[in-house]
Amino acid sequence: MAVLTHTQNRPATTPAHYDTRLDQLLEAADEAPNDDAFLAAMTRIAGLVGQPLPASGYLAHCACSCYGAARCETWFDATAPGTRVIENADAGYNLARIQCPWCADQHPETA
Ligand SMILES: [Zn+2]
Ligand SMILES: [Zn+2]
Repeated sequence: MAVLTHTQNRPATTPAHYDTRLDQLLEAADEAPNDDAFLAAMTRIAGLVGQPLPASGYLAHCACSCYGAARCETWFDATAPGTRVIENADAGYNLARIQCPWCADQHPETA
């Protein structure tokens, strides 16, 4: 489950309602059965985190393990140059674990 990895090191300061809503939307995107459902979830995620939805329709949250320590909470276009896939999505799921370009450059991770 790719989504669960996002919650492991979540800072305690993040408001709970934001967390819950975001987790629900990420789960919806992760389990979306088709492109329309995926895009619908991504559109709402983009609105919630206050980021424009990239042309690829795939807004990714940095899955770097520095998240929670150095607080990398970057949202970025999952298909942008310089991003690094740490781990592909499990079969039947859509979301991979991806590092943002800065983290991929500074401390690339392998699953
Ligand atoms: Zn990052
Ligand atoms: Zn990082």
